[in-house]
Amino acid sequence: MKSRAIALLLLLATAKSAFSWGSEGHEIVALIALHDLKPVAKAKILQLFRFEDPSSAATLPELMMKASIWPDTIKQAPTTPLHIFKDINVLDAAQSHPLHFVDIEGTHYNPETDCPKSKCAITAIETCREVLGDPHQPSLARLEALKFLVHFVGDVHQPLHAGRRSDKGGNDITISTFLTRHPPSGFNLHEVWDKLIVEEADRDANRYALKLLGRITSSNRSTWAANLDPVAWVEESHKLAMTVAYRSGKSTPVTNGAAIDAKYYKRALPVVELQLEKAGVRLAAVINLAMGR
Ligand SMILES: [Zn+2]
Repeated sequence: MKSRAIALLLLLATAKSAFSWGSEGHEIVALIALHDLKPVAKAKILQLFRFEDPSSAATLPELMMKASIWPDTIKQAPTTPLHIFKDINVLDAAQSHPLHFVDIEGTHYNPETDCPKSKCAITAIETCREVLGDPHQPSLARLEALKFLVHFVGDVHQPLHAGRRSDKGGNDITISTFLTRHPPSGFNLHEVWDKLIVEEADRDANRYALKLLGRITSSNRSTWAANLDPVAWVEESHKLAMTVAYRSGKSTPVTNGAAIDAKYYKRALPVVELQLEKAGVRLAAVINLAMGR
C-alpha cells in the first residue's frame, strides 16, 4: 500500500462517523476532495477553520465533513450572520433553496430560464470560487465560501439536482417501495437519489470514501478535472437524470407510486458512485486552483 493511502487511512480513522444519514453523500465528496488537495491548500484551509475557532481540536476530515452539510443546517439553526450572498437571506430556506440545484427544462442549460434572477447552484458555485480565491477577502468570508462550495459542488453532481423543473427534480414523483421495504410515507424519487441508494450501499462515509478513492485512476482525475465549468457538470448530471434516474427501464418512465426495485438499484448505483467520485475530484481541483499557491 502506498504511503499516501496509509496516511489517508490514519487520517480517516480519527474522523467521527457520519453526521447524519442523509448527509453521507456530501461527506463522501468532502473526503475524496480532501485526499486530492495539495498540502499548501490543506494548510490554508486548516488556517481558515482555526481562525473561526482557535480552540477547536477537530481534525481536517472532521471539519470538512461538517462543512459539507453546513449549508443545510443553517436553515434550521441560524447562529451567525453570513458574509456572502448578501442580496439574499440564506438563512431563509425559501430564499436559499434555489442555490442548491439547477433544474433544466430543455436539453441544455439556459441561464435565463434555468437560473432565474441569477440564483441557482451555478452562480452560487461561481461566487464561492471567486471569494475563496481572493486573498483580499476576510478570512471568515473565504471560509464561508469554502463551506458552501464543498456542499454545492456535491449537490450539482446528484443527477436530480439537475432534473426537470416540471417535477421539481423528482420531488413530485412519489415512491411506493424501495427494494423490499416501504420507506416512510411521502418518500420521493429525489430522496432515493439523495439518500437511499448511498445508504443502501454502505452507511459509513469514511469506509465508502476509501472504497471509491481506490477506484479513481490518474486518467480519471485528469479527464474529470479537465473541465471545471459548473455548466458542464450540470448538463452531465441532467443527462444522467433523463437517461437513468427518471427511467425504470430503457424506455419506461418512473411515474407516481413507482416501486424502486433491485433492477433499478443495480443501474443507479454505479451512476451514483461515479458522480460522487467526479464531484470529489473536481472539488479538489477547484480548491487547489483557489488555494494551492
Ligand atoms: Zn444542498
